Amino acid sequence: MKKYGIFGGTFNPIHYGHLMICEYLKEELGLDKIIFIPTGNPPHKDLDVSARARYEMVKLAISSNPTFEITDIETNRIKLSYTVDTVRDLKKIYKDEKLFFLIGLDTLFQLKTWKKIEELSGEIEFVVALRPKYIDIEEINRELKFLRENYGTKVEIIHTPLYEISSTELRDRIKEEKSVRYLIPEEVVNYIKESGFYKDDL
Ligand code: ATP
Repeated sequence: MKKYGIFGGTFNPIHYGHLMICEYLKEELGLDKIIFIPTGNPPHKDLDVSARARYEMVKLAISSNPTFEITDIETNRIKLSYTVDTVRDLKKIYKDEKLFFLIGLDTLFQLKTWKKIEELSGEIEFVVALRPKYIDIEEINRELKFLRENYGTKVEIIHTPLYEISSTELRDRIKEEKSVRYLIPEEVVNYIKESGFYKDDL
């Protein structure tokens, strides 16, 4: 049975932290493919960059990797939906493959706030890439215990190299006209420049 990783994010913009952990987790878990899922525009986040543009940036970033794919399942939706609905839809498409939900460690700490986390926990296993800022192993173990006991979440932690960048920091760097070379793939940097993204306050 083939194994696919699914990796959701705002990707505003996508950066080498995202790409690196996906490649690394792919190897560690023996995944055949990773499917990137850019989110639709969340109502609580005032994004100046459209879902379509974030989708395009991911597409540019993964174009040279034949094991990376993208789906517009969330960016194309008119109505926002829960992650569990996306996972169920993907499981219908990939019915012969085993899917894993890949997340960064900061997302692990947000899981308990996700809508329908219990249902989602029944659908898919999570794999967490240890993210640099969060290296308090006791705190991580407490969180894992809480998720397992309360929602039956199946979750595995995998140590990945430390690449401490976030889209938020990168947007700030672009605004301050600092270089983001080697932090964001070159094709994406060019796309951002051409589109004039992240220059102004919202
Ligand atoms: P923002 O700063 O806007 O919150 P972000 O850089 O965290 O953005 P997202 O698109 O929100 O990016 O993240 C998608 C997924 O990638 C999340 O599961 C997040 O935990 C993970 N992630 C983001 N940056 C890194 C990184 N540098 N190392 C490991 N995981 C990361």
